[in-house]
Amino acid sequence: MSHSEILSAAMLDAADLTGGSLKVHSPVDGALIGEVATHSGADVEKMIGTAKSAFAEWKLVPAPRRGELIRLFGEELRNAKEALGKLVSLEAGKIFQEGLGEVQEMIDICDLAVGQSRQLFGLTIASERPGHSMRETWHPLGVTGVISAFNFPVAVFAWNFALATVCGNTTIWKPSEKTPLTALAVKKIFERASARFGDAPDGVLQVAIGGADVGEALTASKDVPLISATGSTRMGRIVGPKVAERFGKTILELGGNNAMIVAPSADLDNAVRAIVFSAVGTCGQRCTSLRRLIVHEDVRDQLVEKLKSAYGRLPIGSPLEQGVLVGPLIDKAAYDSMQAALEKAKTEGGRVTGGERVDAVEGGYYVRPAIVEMAGQSAIVKHETFAPILYVLTYKTLEEAIALQNDVPQGLSSCIFSTDMRETETFLSAAGSDCGIANVNIGPSGAEIGGAFGGEKETGGGRESGSDAWNAYMRRQTNTVNYSRALPLAQGIRFDI
Ligand code: NAD
Repeated sequence: MSHSEILSAAMLDAADLTGGSLKVHSPVDGALIGEVATHSGADVEKMIGTAKSAFAEWKLVPAPRRGELIRLFGEELRNAKEALGKLVSLEAGKIFQEGLGEVQEMIDICDLAVGQSRQLFGLTIASERPGHSMRETWHPLGVTGVISAFNFPVAVFAWNFALATVCGNTTIWKPSEKTPLTALAVKKIFERASARFGDAPDGVLQVAIGGADVGEALTASKDVPLISATGSTRMGRIVGPKVAERFGKTILELGGNNAMIVAPSADLDNAVRAIVFSAVGTCGQRCTSLRRLIVHEDVRDQLVEKLKSAYGRLPIGSPLEQGVLVGPLIDKAAYDSMQAALEKAKTEGGRVTGGERVDAVEGGYYVRPAIVEMAGQSAIVKHETFAPILYVLTYKTLEEAIALQNDVPQGLSSCIFSTDMRETETFLSAAGSDCGIANVNIGPSGAEIGGAFGGEKETGGGRESGSDAWNAYMRRQTNTVNYSRALPLAQGIRFDI
């Protein structure tokens, strides 16, 4: 399929793709695939007004009926899966299988949110006063601002939007300026669902296109009570305090520096498969990509040899071609920062295998994923470089391995390969991993929708998708009801008038 066929299959037309000032280049070959119109601060202000009016109506719609809109959205996504998956490949450079996976994740969260729409439950609590009852109820919050990163251009939006919508909120989505086309396509898919639904107010979903300035217009507004921001720790350091200053709420999903511990008892063949998928998948550009391999000295040489052999066979090329496993980096800046990190690793004593540019498709930044054997966890290893670089460290005792795993500023995902139950349970205990995600005998990436997703420390502390993540999109209210004929006070206080 040509680029223009992919764009038109995703319902994008000349009005979307021409005349705007935001130039969109495909990482596949650097081709210009769109000139998209951007929004100003004043446009965002207007959108916030529309979203507020829509919220006034939407919050009164019964939650299961709100779920019906998301059910229809999921249906439309199923119909559009292939077209949107291809567009994700073209615009973000993921291999088509991962593009499809991303759309499937959108569908999965819609399914989850539909069920959730009938389960926005609170607690009933025993009151200390006779003839009183207490309970906790959850109410819609208001306008939700979703700021998303380039590397999951549609799934992370859907995690937020599906839950925010069934919870009764309206959403303004600011996608990455590197991936506005997938956002415009998703908006059209949603509009189909909304038309079938019939009576949703205008402004349940709006898309604001632009860079940091457009994001800032959202974060600054006191009329946007919740900002869910996914991206670099650098961005989170700006957004977090800005929203906190006006007492808004945030869900921050920031950088990761994810590790795998490989113990002597590990199934090494499974470990190799998990390592390769999580270290080179999405060309190392997942927040959960495997970046640090902490291997026991007894199996280190064997494992590194197997890995080097697997890396040597990796098919690198256009993500739109079947059979390719490693697509391009997003752009030249990503390539430059990868090369700079490899140079720094060398000065810190690292032995680099791979990492060079590969002449796969002219105009794209394709690289051979790198394995870097380090003597210790130096400064560059503690830094998230958003590229396929796998640092290899060696350990002697599990305590040492866990200390290495935890000794980085980020706290997103982690895992251990071991068949020794004492080791795996220690890793999952309070003495183990300090991350939001800790896995056993699977890699750190590729999470399912049912669990809460997010991480600690510089990863920002936010949680999205499954479990009780929906709570973050609602406000909690504690109710005490007196159905007696008296007025007893709590704590037995006497106040007679
Ligand atoms: P980025 O920080 O450059 O941009 C992310 C988004 O933030 C973009 O939409 C951008 O326009 C916006 N933004 C930037 N500065 C802003 C500001 N001052 N105010 C408001 N908005 C602003 O990140 P990226 O390069 O697109 O994505 C890669 C990063 O995202 C990596 O660090 C990766 O680990 C992280 N990430 C984290 C998760 C997670 O769930 N933890 C998921 C995906 C990506």
